[in-house]
Amino acid sequence: MTPILIIGTGLAGYTVAREFRKLDKTTPLLIITADNGGFYSKPMLSNAFAQNKQAAQLVTQSVEKMAEQTGATILTKTTVNNIDTAAKTVATSAGNFEYDKLVIATGAKPIRLNIAGNAADQVLSVNDIADYTVFRDQIAQLPHPAKVAILGAGLIGCEFADDLAGAGHLVTLIDPNPMPLAALAPAALSLGLHTALTGRNIQLKLGTTAASIDKNGDALSITLANGDTVDSNVVLSAVGLRPDLRVAEAAKLVTDRGILIDTTGKTSAPDVYALGDCAQYTFSEDGSSRILPYIAPLMSAARAIAKTLTGIPTDIDLKPSPVIVKTPSYPLALVSPAPHHTPTGRWEVEQRETSTICRFYNEQDVLSGFAIAPQDAALRQALLAELAG
Ligand code: FAD
Repeated sequence: MTPILIIGTGLAGYTVAREFRKLDKTTPLLIITADNGGFYSKPMLSNAFAQNKQAAQLVTQSVEKMAEQTGATILTKTTVNNIDTAAKTVATSAGNFEYDKLVIATGAKPIRLNIAGNAADQVLSVNDIADYTVFRDQIAQLPHPAKVAILGAGLIGCEFADDLAGAGHLVTLIDPNPMPLAALAPAALSLGLHTALTGRNIQLKLGTTAASIDKNGDALSITLANGDTVDSNVVLSAVGLRPDLRVAEAAKLVTDRGILIDTTGKTSAPDVYALGDCAQYTFSEDGSSRILPYIAPLMSAARAIAKTLTGIPTDIDLKPSPVIVKTPSYPLALVSPAPHHTPTGRWEVEQRETSTICRFYNEQDVLSGFAIAPQDAALRQALLAELAG
């Protein structure tokens, strides 16, 4: 029997495999991955310093255990280079493989900044467990506390900053926006986060960018566009991720920011599906599409695609689900409004004794997003109920 083939062993690839196995115990599954196939929860990477977790402690299941659990053959350290969607084969670094149905879960790649200087190539980014190992090892070799500069005060940059500060390191956070989390959070909560991070002794260099990075003895010296300099031992870039489209583009699948998928997860090619950070999801309500690089949508997509793979076409349920910003000094939860509403809608702020609640109303005056800090489960549920009407 020709297998269902899954590319990638991130949360997306493995969750489809698990969900499919719940429904079908016999159809062969082949999973091909460029990494070593160990299972870990990626969100843990930006919360592991303060808990003093080594990279190996974050891997909760070995590739052998995952093969057992999913009943799949897993080929590790194997890169898929192309797909022949007519012949239904994939070309990999270990030869060609046939598929009956194919699921692409290749994730995203860190955006690389164009920075001048003789140490610009030493900038690290952390988007998988291998990156985390390198980052952690570098910091472990330095006298404590290490000086860490983080480029980008978005979700991941703020999480790493708070985590490293929690572990006692000296952090400088650099971002072109005037406030942390400016692209995601309403101003009131960005301000709250700014106060909390500053209270942790994190230096915020906002409204500017890193122009060049040069070696200065054993340290690195960052020259900012505003003329300031920042000395650090390690520079981490957290400026964002871009869907990994290399395989999809080689196969001439229709792509936009991500691989375009319909409401069931199907790409432009027959029997080829995509999900996770590489995909651009279509909303059934209005036909708009967006990348959704978070866990909740990929879980919904994995459940729906697994069902569709068994022959029952199933729409992905993209109901609003809060993104939790894991900054322990100021924990936030956000349901972002659709980008096409943000220029015309408005945020309204309710200040309660223990928390700040921001509600986003779109141009039709309909509640279509919220943000809360400090967040907790009860508040999240109450706001989700409001959102559902
Ligand atoms: P990935 O995990 O990137 O997996 C991609 C897989 O594809 C890998 O196995 C890779 O080896 C393989 N691959 C790629 N190309 C090829 C190829 N050509 N051939 C073979 N294999 C290939 N989201 C939340 O909702 N909440 C959070 O709190 C949160 N925290 C985060 C913290 C950090 C530090 C980061 C980086 C992300 C966080 N996210 C969070 C986002 C979330 O983790 C991702 O959306 C999710 O893990 C993406 O999973 P994925 O399987 O699509 O991609």
